[in-house]
Amino acid sequence: MSDPSEKEREQERHLMVESQIRRRGIRDPRVLQALERVPRHLFVPRHLWDQAYNDYPLPIGDGQTISQPYMVALMTEALELTGPEKVLEVGTGSGYQAAILAELAREVYTIERLASLARPAEELLHRLGYRNVHVLVGDGTLGWPPQAPYDAIIVTAGAPKVPPALVEQLALGGRLVIPVGDRWNQTLTRIRRLPTGELKTEYLGGCRFVKLIGAQGWQMEEED
Ligand code: SAM
Repeated sequence: MSDPSEKEREQERHLMVESQIRRRGIRDPRVLQALERVPRHLFVPRHLWDQAYNDYPLPIGDGQTISQPYMVALMTEALELTGPEKVLEVGTGSGYQAAILAELAREVYTIERLASLARPAEELLHRLGYRNVHVLVGDGTLGWPPQAPYDAIIVTAGAPKVPPALVEQLALGGRLVIPVGDRWNQTLTRIRRLPTGELKTEYLGGCRFVKLIGAQGWQMEEED
């Protein structure tokens, strides 16, 4: 059988948005639109293209994953992006979340510790025409001070605690969304820096991510 056409992928995406995302309560029209637009299948290995729009994470190599579409939507909505923001993502992985962010914000800086994932992600994002995404290789637990402060920071790996460096790099009024917990279970956490400078923490539900490994995350020897 020949590959499903782009039109069919578009239909799969639409079904994904309706049945997995909108039905579960994601309402931000810009987030829904971004999920309709970004060709998620291109961000997973070719042999998994037929599963790209299913309701679960998928392996992307090096023991890492692309998150479940609903989790991408939930975290993105929690960032409350309206267009003019400068965003930092920690954990580029496939580059899919970065593409969604690029649809919704002005500039996206995304850091990945594994060059073997960062380079192909950068190449794909470039090929798809995202000129406002900047891919960096390094330890994202330390943030990226040269471009700080950020209006929004998203961490797409599970942290044992909130890295202080990321809180420091949050602009006044900014939002940091990060899974915090142990190896197996984390709580999606949003920290808001109020215009007064005060920090406000909210808990958005349970989740499970691969480990955030770095100076202000899990240590290498804790890796399994
Ligand atoms: N956002 C990705 C996507 O859309 O495909 C999925 C991210 S995957 C669940 C988590 C990623 O975080 C992995 O690629 C992992 O290598 C990366 N990671 C873990 N610790 C990191 C760190 N300290 N700095 C940057 N990236 C890190």
